[in-house]
Amino acid sequence: MLPDRHPDMAVLGRADSVALDPHKWLYAPLEAGCALVRDEVAMRAAFSYHPDYYKFKDESDDRVANMVDFGPQNSRGFRALKVWLSLKQAGRRGYESMIREDIALAKRLYDAAIAHPLLQAFDCNLSIATFRYLPDDLDVDADGAETYLNALNEELLTRLQAGGEAFVSNAVIAGAYVLRACVVNFRTTNADVDAVPEIVIRLGAAVDAELRPDALKS
Ligand SMILES: *Cc1c(COP(=O)(O)O)cnc(C)c1O
Repeated sequence: MLPDRHPDMAVLGRADSVALDPHKWLYAPLEAGCALVRDEVAMRAAFSYHPDYYKFKDESDDRVANMVDFGPQNSRGFRALKVWLSLKQAGRRGYESMIREDIALAKRLYDAAIAHPLLQAFDCNLSIATFRYLPDDLDVDADGAETYLNALNEELLTRLQAGGEAFVSNAVIAGAYVLRACVVNFRTTNADVDAVPEIVIRLGAAVDAELRPDALKS
């Protein structure tokens, strides 16, 4: 969708099938999963199953796409309705601007993490920024420092999630436990993102004061 998309995304166009969650970056309410397939006939051949008690009057009528033939689920609710309605309401351009904005917000948070002396930025890709709390008086080369940083950030994340001010998840990058902020809400603003470093630092300092082993105190 976006001309400045990550080059890795281009290979999606060569896939035979793509599974995605409209409840992620298509902003649908939970839950909506979706499979896009290139070859409808192969899909039907894989899943269509008609025991004696499961016959439809005119199976040769291909004007009707009976979804039972395209997956393991028989009875299903009309989850597609909410996805379709959003597509109609926002349109391609609406999605472009919402997704572009989410990417810019993640970049904004990543840049803030780079600039902040108590945060260590790791990576920024699509609308995900990863970083961790790094106390400035900790000798990162000391024995046990990395293990301690992992424990510190893990506990920080638990408190962050429980505290209700912000919700980020985690990732592990080359052994480092990091906070992973993923922006997939069109209501997220610059102010929301700008609030995150201060919250993380406040909680990080509190956890650090409680957990730091004596051997790592300066
Ligand atoms: C969303 C997500 C899941 C969970 O998938 P659901 O279809 O929402 O249950 C698992 N792993 C990753 C990386 C995800 O982004």
